[in-house]
Amino acid sequence: MKQEVIELDGAIGGGQVLRSALSLSMVTGQAFRIKQIRARRSRPGLLRQHLTAVLAAAQVCGARMTGAELGSQDLSFEPGAIQAGDYQFVIGTAGSCTLVLQTILPALLQAPGASRVRISGGTHNPLAPPTDFLARSWLPLMRRMGANIELELLRHGFVPAGGGEIEAKVLPSQLRPLSLCDRGAAISSSASALTAGLASVVAERELDRVAKRLSPLPQVMQHIALDPARGPGNVLLLEYAFEHVTEVFSAFGQVSLRAEKVADTAIHQAADWLQSGSAVAEHLADQLLLPLAMSGGGAFTTPRMTEHLHSNIAVIERFLPVAIECSQQATDCMRVEIRTIE
Ligand code: ATP
Repeated sequence: MKQEVIELDGAIGGGQVLRSALSLSMVTGQAFRIKQIRARRSRPGLLRQHLTAVLAAAQVCGARMTGAELGSQDLSFEPGAIQAGDYQFVIGTAGSCTLVLQTILPALLQAPGASRVRISGGTHNPLAPPTDFLARSWLPLMRRMGANIELELLRHGFVPAGGGEIEAKVLPSQLRPLSLCDRGAAISSSASALTAGLASVVAERELDRVAKRLSPLPQVMQHIALDPARGPGNVLLLEYAFEHVTEVFSAFGQVSLRAEKVADTAIHQAADWLQSGSAVAEHLADQLLLPLAMSGGGAFTTPRMTEHLHSNIAVIERFLPVAIECSQQATDCMRVEIRTIE
């Protein structure tokens, strides 16, 4: 029997609404139509990164679609069977490689064989997960849930030049639920200022600011100078490994933005999470939700509700027979629980 097409309103959020819908459509076999894609963003519709995610998803599952064009605000997507393979996707701008990868990974876990995916574009973008975050924060949790995924950063790519590349190897895997309501004991912490083609004083000023404003001080403070040909680029990464979770906070250098301001952005995120009693911070929360829902259950704690979490819950509940409940446990600790509806 043919199922009804799921109708979605893209204006409830940004590109993540579209990417989650693509992932869920591939894994459930359910067709969808989305209108008003990124309607409230300054440049609405499909940008290069979103279009690459759409085309990548379509290739992985042999989808039929209409509206897959730059600037389009309306897309219909009818998935076919997921195919394992050796895939290569080129964003063509500094658009985020990690967001494209996250779109197709859930499907590749359900593919009939092993896959290899290479994606070129930006690997370290503002407002997207840096590859370090995927590799050291999100993927270890995916592996704990049973996912067999390896990720390698082949070349850094910063905004605006792009030119970075990542490679993922994925084996078919069944996801298991995960409960992550407590970080466990602290293990290690570090502050890394990465620069490519920029004076080392940029990194020094960022690390000085961390030393002045972040308490306790990260155990390792390091400047990593990348190949200048990869630049210009700068990211400050604050990494905290706990027994049950590792968090990676990031902030990006930009022309005419003082190094101290860059550092403050990462410091603020880290301090907010450290002082909250919750297990995962804002970004990890919205990125864990879909794999947990696919696994059929699980729970985590996070400081608060965000637009991304809210819109992701709305999309997931349209595709999967799950109920997602959020209950505030303290001012900066909200419990998110995913249950399968019988
Ligand atoms: P737009 O909002 O312009 O449509 P978009 O398509 O790039 O943008 P969003 O819908 O904003 O995407 O989703 C961005 C994703 O990147 C979210 O899952 C968010 O949690 C994640 N993200 C953003 N910044 C970071 C960061 N510093 N570390 C980890 N993840 C991040």
